[in-house]
Amino acid sequence: MKQTMVGISRRLMIWLTLGLSVFAPSARSEPFQWPGGARAAVSLSYDDALPSQLDNALPALNALGLKATFYLTLSSPIVSQRLPEWRRAAAAGHELGNHTLFHPCSRSAPGRDWVAAHRDLDRISVTQLREEILLANAYLHAIDGQTERTYTAPCTDALAAGQPYLPAIKSDFVGIKSRIGGVAPTLATLDPLDVSTAGPVDASGAALIAIVQEAAAKGTLASLTFHGIGGDYLSVPKEAHQALLQHLADNPKLYWVDSFVKIAAHVRQQRERAAASAAASDVEAATQPQAQAGVGRLVPSGH
Ligand SMILES: [Zn+2]
Repeated sequence: MKQTMVGISRRLMIWLTLGLSVFAPSARSEPFQWPGGARAAVSLSYDDALPSQLDNALPALNALGLKATFYLTLSSPIVSQRLPEWRRAAAAGHELGNHTLFHPCSRSAPGRDWVAAHRDLDRISVTQLREEILLANAYLHAIDGQTERTYTAPCTDALAAGQPYLPAIKSDFVGIKSRIGGVAPTLATLDPLDVSTAGPVDASGAALIAIVQEAAAKGTLASLTFHGIGGDYLSVPKEAHQALLQHLADNPKLYWVDSFVKIAAHVRQQRERAAASAAASDVEAATQPQAQAGVGRLVPSGH
């Protein structure tokens, strides 16, 4: 009986503390949320400025009201030849992302015989590459008038002349897709400047849908990087792509589908809010030693 009373009063203390914490200014922050209360964010992206993206992917996205990111290789003739179409895509809410001017990749990696010697990333310095990437941003600005955008590393190579180059461009972008990989495992470890992306090739609709369903189950982000859609290279059949888009459009409560610049900006905004809340909580802990610091802080710590 005595033990029960002790238990009850201890529980009462905990509830009182939690109650205080709930009403304390530091605990007003809410958990990380995707817009509209969606379970996961989905970033659809299309690399290399390929004709089948304008012919097949873009009309399919527009028909369902889904926004995506097109990572343009700006030296591609498809950019200059079809400039009004890219410009219209941007005006419709799609992002034109940076994928460099010349798509340099490491020629020493397996299967990279196609990389021209003068575009060999093993021989291009970090400084040179950064210059190229900043000029690509200026070119993109001339196309769409935007000042904030994201980057996808060509071939997901991270070294220029043997040195890591992504740290040198982080401050120039809202988000970076830097690695081939699966769905983000947790929100706490999701870094918008170091996002892994799936690279489906010749995939079925079911396989594509499984990727976004995994993100919904984890409450995180699914990033998919396509190349050709029903044509060109590294392609995914039009029907499979359509099945994924239809699944996304049919489940707006599960998925927030938007351009990567919007998604990365949202993650950063939520992180800043969490950091501000944590700082306020620390001040409160210092000034009100009786309150339990950190209780009610539900948001993962920021980067
Ligand atoms: Zn590429």
